[in-house]
This record gives sequence, C-alpha cells and structure tokens, in this order.
Amino acid sequence: MATSNLPTPDFSFDPNQPGACIAGVRPYRNGSYRLDAETISGKFIVHNYGHGGAGITLSFGCATKVRDIVRDHLAASPGATEVAVLGAGVMGLTAATLLFDLGLKVTIYADRPPLQTTSAKAGGQWAVSVVEFAGKERELAQIVKTAYREFKNRIGQGFGVFERPNYTATPSHNLDIVIQLAPGLIPPRKSLKRLPFEHHTKSGFVYQTLLIEPPVLLAKLKADLDLRGVAFVSKQFASRSDILASVPQAIIVNCTGLGSMTLWSDTKMMPIKGQLAMLRPQPALQYLYGQNGYMFPRSDHVVIGGTFEPGVNNETADKAVCQGLVDHIASLFGKAAAKPLSDIHIHNPDHAPIVNPAIPSV
Ligand SMILES: Cc1cc2nc3c(=O)[nH]c(=O)nc-3n(C[C@H](O)[C@H](O)[C@H](O)COP(=O)(O)OP(=O)(O)OC[C@H]3O[C@@H](n4cnc5c(N)ncnc54)[C@H](O)[C@@H]3O)c2cc1C
Repeated sequence: MATSNLPTPDFSFDPNQPGACIAGVRPYRNGSYRLDAETISGKFIVHNYGHGGAGITLSFGCATKVRDIVRDHLAASPGATEVAVLGAGVMGLTAATLLFDLGLKVTIYADRPPLQTTSAKAGGQWAVSVVEFAGKERELAQIVKTAYREFKNRIGQGFGVFERPNYTATPSHNLDIVIQLAPGLIPPRKSLKRLPFEHHTKSGFVYQTLLIEPPVLLAKLKADLDLRGVAFVSKQFASRSDILASVPQAIIVNCTGLGSMTLWSDTKMMPIKGQLAMLRPQPALQYLYGQNGYMFPRSDHVVIGGTFEPGVNNETADKAVCQGLVDHIASLFGKAAAKPLSDIHIHNPDHAPIVNPAIPSV
C-alpha cells in the first residue's frame, strides 16, 4: 500500500527580508562541557558553560546540577543568602529559576538580554548535538534524563515545547547518544520503507522528539523571573578579576557561554558558527525533517539550518548560505536544484558531533 505524503513546505524565501537570515556561534568546548565549582578569593564559583549545539536541550538538567552544587555548598558553609548568575541565555535563566527555588535572592548580570543571546538563535530541537562529554557519561545521563522530563512537563505550559515526529534519512547520531546514555527515555525509532514526502523514494527513519521554540522559552523564563522579583543588571565584564571585584555576591554561577573563552581564559573553548534561514510560519507542518541539514517548523518560522563553521566567531549571516540551505532542503522535495553541501558549510551529515566520543555503557 502506498504511504500518503505529509504536507510539502512552501520554500518561498527572500534572504533580503529583515530577520530572514541569522547566524549564531555555538559555545563548543573540546573534551567536555564545564560544570564544576571552585573557590577564588573567597567566592564560590560554579561554572556552567560549553554546551555547543545542545544548550537548550541540556539546560534544565544542568540547572538542576547547579542548584544541587549550591545547595551542598550552603549545607557545608551556611550564611550566604544571595547568588549572582552571570549570563541571561538559557543556561543563566534556568539556573536562576532553580536557585530562586532554594530561597536565595538571585541577581542576573549580562551584557545581552535573553532575546539577544545565542540561545535565542537556536533552532530548537531537543537533541544532544555537537557537545562533548568525555569522562562525564554518568553525569550527562542524569542531565539528559532530568532535562527531558522537565521539558516534557512544560508541554502546553507556555514554554514553547511541543512533541513532534522527526523524519530523518539516516539514523541520527544525536539520537544514538540518548539511546545509549538513557535507554528507554525516548520511544524507539522506527524504520520506514519510504520517507512520507513528495519526491522521496528512499527508506528512512522516524522518532518522537521535542521541539522547543527558543524565543518563547526564553521570554517565558524571563517573565517568570521578573514576577518573582529577580533583578537583571546590564553589565559587560572584561575579565575574571573584573568579575571578582565588581560582583558583590559570595556565590557566583558562571553561565557566560562563549564569553567564558575570554573571561576564564578557557583555551578548550571553540566557536562554531551556525546559520539559519527563517521561512514564513506554516502551521500545517507538524513534523521535523533532517537530511544533511534540518527543517524545524516552529510557530514563528519554519527554520532551516545545520551549518557548521568551526573556529568562526562572528554572527554575520551570509545570504547566499541561507539561500543555499533553503535550496538544499527544497531540492530534496523536488522544488529546487541541489547545491554542493560544502558551499553551505554542511560538513557533518545529520549534524553529528565534531568529534565522535566513544560512549561506554553507563
Ligand atoms: C544556529 C544554531 C542552532 C542551534 N540549535 C540548537 C538546537 O536545536 N538545540 C539545542 O539544544 N541547542 C542549539 N544550539 C546551541 C545553543 O544555542 C547553545 O548551546 C546555547 O544557547 C548556550 O547557552 P548559554 O546560556 O550557555 O549561552 P548564551 O545564550 O550565549 O548566553 C550567554 C550569556 O552570557 C552573557 N555574557 C557572555 N560574556 C559576557 C561578558 N563578558 N560580560 C557580561 N555578560 C556576558 C551574554 O550576554 C549572554 O547573556 C544552536 C546554536 C546555534 C548557533
């Protein structure tokens, strides 16, 4: 029996329209993301950065770990009633949310408000993508489980979280990581004889995933923090010593993303630029799609992305790349001529990690 097709996107795109073409820089860290604490000049500092292409995905799990580290510190050295959170991206906002629940007075310091951060530029799939975790498999398993549960609990609660099928041409490496770290967390993928789209004839896969719309998530987290009286201070830090001298709180949670490369002289940090083409929203598209690049139909835009430029640290979007991304996905639906993938910085099929870590069973 022939499989009926799901709706085909309208690939109309004008890269010259404001906001049609955007670029962000992933805060990638060689070896592993950083989630640990140190004491410097009498201040207790918790680091939470370096999550590459998975910061939205891991946020609530990492924030839970941050909260536990601070709670244990307070149990061992009681006294502090205030905490400073550096950074207003997804890592800072989720950490601030959970630290408030500990009964602490929370102040957020950042040089960009939430909707101007890298977090606001993320595509929004819940996927453990382009993040390293060497030697931290057990910790990441816990983070992944917590984060998934926290996002699932927020479906329908105004956080921009939806459950969607993701159709892929190849078995997604990102999904394999989750299957190995947290067996049973996500329903298993199914093989399909044919992907159910116009012009598609080859076999593929489908699995249930979460779509998280970053602008909605960040706005909701910020609004909830505002309601709770959490203060936002607009401030740019020049260095570690600047932070130590100018932040009065004795507990500091560092969620400065790529900023940590300079602030903490972290030579493991590496920028990885990514570009996105934003098509008009198309509510009939209730699926995610991936084949050397991805398409995430969100309520604000249909987002097409999947480019990787390791070592490139600028947020200037290239209109030709964005048009090429659209043409690439459109070509798979028979709606455009294909472009060489190298022209549009798609080097990693199915956006696999830059370095594929061997995952021991946990
Ligand atoms: C194109 C693209 C697509 C992506 N898609 C996904 C996806 O589908 N799913 C997913 O999970 N992740 C995705 N990501 C990755 C995700 O966006 C990042 O991992 C995440 O945003 C990191 O969050 P963060 O809070 O650590 O950093 P940021 O969002 O960058 O926030 C850092 C904060 O620190 C502040 N700061 C930094 N330096 C200083 C300083 N010197 N002084 C004061 N403040 C400072 C900034 O102002 C900002 O408020 C994508 C990224 C890109 C670029």
